[in-house]
Amino acid sequence: MTTTETTPAAPETALKSVDPATGEVIATYPIADADAVRAAVAKARAAAPAWGALSFDDRRKALLRWSTRLVSESDAFTDLIHRETGKTHDDAFLELMLALEHIAWAAKNAKKVLGPKRIASGPLMSNFSARLEYRPLGVVGIIGPWNYPVYTPNGSIAYALSAGNTVVFKPSEFSTGIGNFLAEAFRAANPELPDGVFVAINGFGATGAELVKADIDKIAFTGSTATGKKIMAAAAERLTPVLLECGGKDAVIVAADADVKAAADAVAFGAAGNSGQTCAGVERVYVERSVREPFVAELTRILKNVKPGSGDDANYGPMTMPSQIEIVRKHIDAALASGGKAVLGGPESIKGAFIEPVVFVDVDESSEAVVEETFGPTVTVRTVDSIDEAIELTNSSKYGLSSAVFSKSRGLEIARRLRVGATSVNSVLGFAAIPGLPFGGVGDSGIGRIHGEPGLKEFARPHSIAIQKFTVPGMALLSFSRTKSTVNLLRKVVPVLHGRNK
Ligand code: NAD
Repeated sequence: MTTTETTPAAPETALKSVDPATGEVIATYPIADADAVRAAVAKARAAAPAWGALSFDDRRKALLRWSTRLVSESDAFTDLIHRETGKTHDDAFLELMLALEHIAWAAKNAKKVLGPKRIASGPLMSNFSARLEYRPLGVVGIIGPWNYPVYTPNGSIAYALSAGNTVVFKPSEFSTGIGNFLAEAFRAANPELPDGVFVAINGFGATGAELVKADIDKIAFTGSTATGKKIMAAAAERLTPVLLECGGKDAVIVAADADVKAAADAVAFGAAGNSGQTCAGVERVYVERSVREPFVAELTRILKNVKPGSGDDANYGPMTMPSQIEIVRKHIDAALASGGKAVLGGPESIKGAFIEPVVFVDVDESSEAVVEETFGPTVTVRTVDSIDEAIELTNSSKYGLSSAVFSKSRGLEIARRLRVGATSVNSVLGFAAIPGLPFGGVGDSGIGRIHGEPGLKEFARPHSIAIQKFTVPGMALLSFSRTKSTVNLLRKVVPVLHGRNK
C-alpha cells in the first residue's frame, strides 16, 4: 500500500524528478490534480479522529518507530537525497540526522508542552478550578521546499503529527521522491495505523495551491516569500491559519574583538555550504574596520579551496533548481555594477549547475545583491566603523530570519538588538540544530515558529475549561441573583487587590 495520492496523468502532465548534476531523469510521478488533492485531504480527515484520540505516549511510539525506520534505510535515503538534490552524501546524512533530532524532540516533548494543565483560578473565582488543554487542529497541509527537503518540512510534519494532527504533505517538485520516501517510511513503520495519518501528494505549485484551498485546518508553508504571500492571500478565503517560513538575507556581524579566524571559518561554511541554498545561510557580513583585512584574507583563503562537484570529495553540490543559477548571475552582475569588488571569483565562477564561491567587498547597500535573497555561494562583506552601524545595516533588511555575531565580549548584547528570529553567537546556524529552540522569522521571512514549544503549539488549539466546584450563596457574580451586598463587598476587596500598586 502506498501513502502517495495521485491521479492517472497524461505523460505531459507528469512530474519528472531530475538529478541536477547530470540532468538524468530519476523517476516520473503523476501529478495530483484538484480531485486527487481533495481525496488525499478526505483520507487524512477520516484518519484524524483515530490518530488524535491516541495518547501522547502512543503517538510518541509511532513517531519513534518512524525514526528507527529512517535510520535503518538511511543508506538508500541519503543516496536518494544525493541524487535528487545534488547534495553530497555526507551533507544528506547530516540533514537526516538533524531531522531525526527534531522528530525525537517533538515526539518526546508533546505531552509536557500540550498535556492538560491546571491553571490558578484567582481570588475572585476561587470556587472554580481551571484547566488548559490542547486539542489537535485536525488536518494540516504542509508545503515544502527542496533545499533541505527532509529537515525543513519535518519542522512542521513531526510537530503537527506529535500534536495529534494528520498531515497532507506536498513536497517541492524538485524533491518529490524524498517527500514520498518520508511518508512511505512512516506508513511502513506503522502499518496498524489508518492509511491517512501522513499522506504525500505530488505536483508543482498548482497542486500546492489546491491544497491551500482544500478542507484543511492549517497550512504550514516553507519556501520563498513570493509564494508565501500568495498562500496567505489564498488561505484568507477560508480563514485557514497560516505558518509561513520564508526567505532570508541573513547578516553576520564581526566585531573588533572577534576571533577572526573562527569567524572566517564559520562564515565560509554559512555562505557556501549546500551551495548557499540555505534559508538561514550567510549572505551579508558587516565587519569592524580594525579586523576587516585579516577577516577578508582568511575568508578568501578558505573559500579558494572550497569546490563544488558531484563526487563525495566535493565540498558541496550543484544548484538544485536550474532557474536559481540566473538569479545568482544577476546578483553577481549587480554587485559589480554597484561598485563592488570581487576578491574571490566573479561571473566566471558559474560553471553550469556548479557555482564556485564568490566573495565581494564594498557592494553598495542598495544593490540587489545586498537587498534580495541570492540563495547561492556568494557573500558580500562591508566594512563598518561601529557596532551600532553594523546593527543598523543588519536590521534595515526587509527580511529578518536569522543572524550571527562574532565577538569575545559583546555577543549576547549585540544579539539582543537584532530584528530577527534567531542568532548564533560565535558560530553560524547553531540554533537550527537545537530542537528546543523555535525557528522562524519576522518581516518578509514569515509568520509563526517551527521547532520547540512554540512549534508544537502552532499545531494545537488551546481549550480553556473553567469548572465551578461549588456555589457561594449570594456571591454568584455571573448571575442575576447577584446581590447588592456582594457588589458592596467587591468594592472593598478590589482596592486591596489592585489599588496598592506602587
Ligand atoms: P518556492 O516558493 O518556489 O516553492 C516552495 C513550495 O511551494 C514548492 O513545493 C512549490 O511547489 C509550492 N508552491 C509554488 N507556488 C505555489 C502556490 N501558488 N500555492 C501553493 N504552493 C505553491 O520555494 P523553493 O524554491 O522551493 O524554496 C526556496 C525558498 O525557500 C527560499 O526562499 C528559502 O529561503 C526558503 N526557505 C525557507 C526556510 C525557512 O525555514 N524559513 C527553509 C527552507 C527554505
